[in-house]
Amino acid sequence: MERVKRLLAERKRIAVLTGAGISAESGVPTFRGAGGLWRNYRPEEIACMEAFLRDPVLVWEWYLERKKGIAAVAPNAAHHLLARLETERGDFTLITQNVDGLHGRAGSRSILELHGNIWITRCLACERQARDESLVYPELPPKCPCGGTVRPHIVWFGEMLDPDILQASWAAAEGCDLFLVIGTSALVYPAASLPRVALEAGASVVEINPEPTPFSEAATVSLRMKAVEFAEAMQ
Ligand code: NAD
Ligand code: ZN
Repeated sequence: MERVKRLLAERKRIAVLTGAGISAESGVPTFRGAGGLWRNYRPEEIACMEAFLRDPVLVWEWYLERKKGIAAVAPNAAHHLLARLETERGDFTLITQNVDGLHGRAGSRSILELHGNIWITRCLACERQARDESLVYPELPPKCPCGGTVRPHIVWFGEMLDPDILQASWAAAEGCDLFLVIGTSALVYPAASLPRVALEAGASVVEINPEPTPFSEAATVSLRMKAVEFAEAMQ
């Protein structure tokens, strides 16, 4: 921990990658932890275009339940720490795999959301995006003003990441001198490549995760800690 505090004090260009684990202590379940199943479906069976085309109502019901769960919780000390670092440090990039919007609610301004955001919808027909905080709809699936079917603006299994967001994340990993990886299993590519990109570019990489991951051995420092514990230790 002391080494990480020193790194944070000394280094100038900071990038952070967060995953589902940073929101776990807010009460948003991770996919691989408890609560990963819903009505006996695995996320892969629901969060994909195939499922949406087959049964858009079922997919929307899943997202509405997740939206309700997220609306009922609050950002935690780890989200707040990252929001504070953004204002205090000039060169700071936040990259997240999370779709829950908790970083934004904690006050982070500039966020590279690799997997989209559950509070944004997108029309299948005209691609129109809209901020959408509805927790109930008069009909499912919801419709766009153009008449098209609306989906959550989330990168589903089998879909490509937004190339601009990926490019900006890659550039941040290559250009930083300290990279923090908080609460991600380092299993889902291409996000899982980012810590390695940072390491190869010469940055120190600090992992914060209560469980070991495939990346732990390569990390400069691997702290077996929960995200909130880490944030509190940084105070
Ligand atoms: P994951 O579920 O695969 O892994 C979560 C990781 O967090 C694990 O390594 C676990 O050990 C760690 N963890 C658990 N509790 C923690 C804590 N208190 N502090 C720190 N770390 C903790 O999640 P992932 O790697 O982010 O990838 C799964 C995909 O699912 C992501 O792409 C994401 O888009 C999506 N997802 C998002 C959310 C969300 O938005 N909150 C929730 C579930 C899944
Ligand atoms: Zn439309």
